[in-house]
Amino acid sequence: MGAMVYWVILSLSILALGVWVFWSVRGVRAYVRARGKRLVTCPETHCAAAVELDAKGASWKAFRGGNYFRLQDCSRWPERQDCAQDCLQEIETLGQGCLVRTIVAGWYSGKTCVYCRKPLDKVEEWTGHMPALLDPDQKTVMWGEVPPEKLPGVFENYKPVCWSCHIAETFRRVHPELVTDRPPRW
Ligand SMILES: [Zn+2]
Repeated sequence: MGAMVYWVILSLSILALGVWVFWSVRGVRAYVRARGKRLVTCPETHCAAAVELDAKGASWKAFRGGNYFRLQDCSRWPERQDCAQDCLQEIETLGQGCLVRTIVAGWYSGKTCVYCRKPLDKVEEWTGHMPALLDPDQKTVMWGEVPPEKLPGVFENYKPVCWSCHIAETFRRVHPELVTDRPPRW
């Protein structure tokens, strides 16, 4: 009898663990799908807005077996925090295509650094050394310094710069007294 109870408890524990793992995987997948800044066209203003889905809410709801599709942040908040979030339709249609990271990678694809001509479409380099930008005032800037909702203007007026040239140009700008330009030796 004792052994029987033991096996029943063990079987139930394994079953519970299996269900818990299944729910967790569902939650993690929902989190990964929802996270990240996205660029949408605001249905109210017809201008670009940077939004973020509530990834934690989506993950928790998916864990319990449901769908949660709401915003957590928008570049038009807090002024318009009570909007209808109609842009969610656009996000649903575009999926990962409206992720800022995807859009930026698409812009760099096929482009070369304006200084050294190095191709900038190797996505694996994105993990560490993000490519940068040359603004109309000839100053290089990092992507993090540009608000995502300004991207459409950036795509028109900025030029692509590789990470190494951005670091070199920034040093040259900040410490001009320490930089000596030598003619190239062939
Ligand atoms: Zn370069």
